Amino acid sequence: MRQKPFIAFLIALLVIACGVSTDAQTTQQIPINIAYIVSMPKPHTHLLEVDVEVKRPADAKPPMEELLVMPVWTPGSYLVREYARHVQDFSAKDDGGHSLKWEKINKDTWRIVTNGAHDWHASYRVYANELTVRTNELNSGHAFWNNAALLMYLDGSLKTPSTVQVLAPDVWKVATGLPILPGKKNTFRAENFDVLYDSPFEVSAFKTLSFTVQGVPHRIVIDGEGNYDPERIRRDVQKIVAAEITLMGGEIPYHDYTFILHLRSTGGGGLEHLNSTALGFPRFNFQPERNYRGFLSLVSHEFFHLWNVKRIRPDALGPFDYTKENYTKLLWVAEGITDYYATLVLRRAGLISDKEFLDAEARAIQTLQNTPGRLVMTGEEASFDAWIKYYRQDENSVNSQVDYYNKGSILGLLLDLEIRKRSNGAKSLDDVMHYLYNEFFKKDRNYTPEDFQKACELMAGASLEEFFARFVRGRDELDYDTTLAAAGLRLETTRDADGSKLEPKAFLGADTAQEGDRLMVRRVYAGSPAYEQGLNTGDQIVALNNMRSNKDFFDARIAEKHPGDLISMTIFRFDDLSTLLIKLGRSAEGPYRIVPVANATEGQRQIYRSWLGPA
Ligand SMILES: [Zn+2]
Repeated sequence: MRQKPFIAFLIALLVIACGVSTDAQTTQQIPINIAYIVSMPKPHTHLLEVDVEVKRPADAKPPMEELLVMPVWTPGSYLVREYARHVQDFSAKDDGGHSLKWEKINKDTWRIVTNGAHDWHASYRVYANELTVRTNELNSGHAFWNNAALLMYLDGSLKTPSTVQVLAPDVWKVATGLPILPGKKNTFRAENFDVLYDSPFEVSAFKTLSFTVQGVPHRIVIDGEGNYDPERIRRDVQKIVAAEITLMGGEIPYHDYTFILHLRSTGGGGLEHLNSTALGFPRFNFQPERNYRGFLSLVSHEFFHLWNVKRIRPDALGPFDYTKENYTKLLWVAEGITDYYATLVLRRAGLISDKEFLDAEARAIQTLQNTPGRLVMTGEEASFDAWIKYYRQDENSVNSQVDYYNKGSILGLLLDLEIRKRSNGAKSLDDVMHYLYNEFFKKDRNYTPEDFQKACELMAGASLEEFFARFVRGRDELDYDTTLAAAGLRLETTRDADGSKLEPKAFLGADTAQEGDRLMVRRVYAGSPAYEQGLNTGDQIVALNNMRSNKDFFDARIAEKHPGDLISMTIFRFDDLSTLLIKLGRSAEGPYRIVPVANATEGQRQIYRSWLGPA
């Protein structure tokens, strides 16, 4: 999942079995035929119509009552979203068309009195009017849905195969990662519900860009207009795919891959799936280059997930329990290290320069160092509490949380260089990823935090206990220079590009934003002058030193101040006017940069080059 940047998730509950308790007993012995029909007779109403047929063989003895369950979340997006809230018009019938009694027994479960029927149907409609990578949208232009947000599963049958037939307007095509059922129009097959729920659908008059890598077909399915160059994105996405396959050892673990790309005026993000991904990107952000790199970075991140999280699976992440939170301490690996590789791969594929890569890493480090919450929450805690913290941010988040994408990506950078240094350049984090793929995915096992540390130590040829204790399970400040030195680099925070020392500047410690004619405080950083002297997120700044103030005025006047100067801020807090006197602090930091050390050794140069790829 990726939901921020370019315009801008224990005790590990060993949820090995799907939490639906009846699953283990009833699954494999009884072959059940589960067939969905998804239709959209009135797209403008935003109502997707679902018919599910449950059919058992004549020699089976079906139960008298059955349960249909709507998932509360979809893997990759770690928030309980209560998809059942969009369900309406539920009904159930036997194969003779006679109505069956049913009732809801909790928020997401429907009990149907089937009276031992071998063949019965349920139908319902789902309101679909929210386009994100984790929700559903149907309108006159297209249909996009996540199966976890649309298709109820038969309790106890998560390991059962199913089919999905799509009935759509004639002019619309159907794209999904699921294989088509031979001889059946727009009908697809899923071998189990984890696969079904990992295969979103786009149904529209989309454009298709196709390419192959090692003979394996890939397609980019685009819904929406934008200022993109089709040939360039086909070529660049192909380069990213090829570079990541090379990085992961050259084996392609799927038969075909589909990028579903939605282009709209604003918004965006991505959600990873087994052999597909859903991406959203602002339609006019393919230019200029800086924004275009945001698109490449999004593609690179989501595609790398096909290994890291979809196949290299953290302890609790698959098979899934769709009725509640699935807790893991490893999102810093699943998301953070994916983010690290997303940028590194762009460099190795020749799509960005060494400097652009190092600048991106320096920006990530500066973001972390400007987050007071880094001293409050560990990377493992951030992962475990994603469900209630990362996905539910408020004004205190910057002061109480660390972003596992941000810190995880930096931990990836530091671990990579640490392993390269300790192994004298013989091994790297790439080898850790290969090891996890071969030793866990290929042996159908999930990995634990302890497994991850052991894999890193195996490649480093040394204990990394101190690293993991201080920086992963602990809250210590990261030690950048010691690790960057492995590649002949260091972090520069207080000097300009010409080497001159930056003058100390006045420091307030609050982010502001102009909202209409109001200048609002958006964020106040713990420990800063603003925080310690009483400014609150949500305050409206009316005047600075008794002068009416908008954002431009406020920023310009603060920039003229010196460390230690006193300012008066007239504010509305809720509906009450008051004045705060604040003594400004001192900052001598500029934009962070990662720069070469003087007199790098041959060993440092070799690690640098093998890390970033050919110049
Ligand atoms: Zn992600």
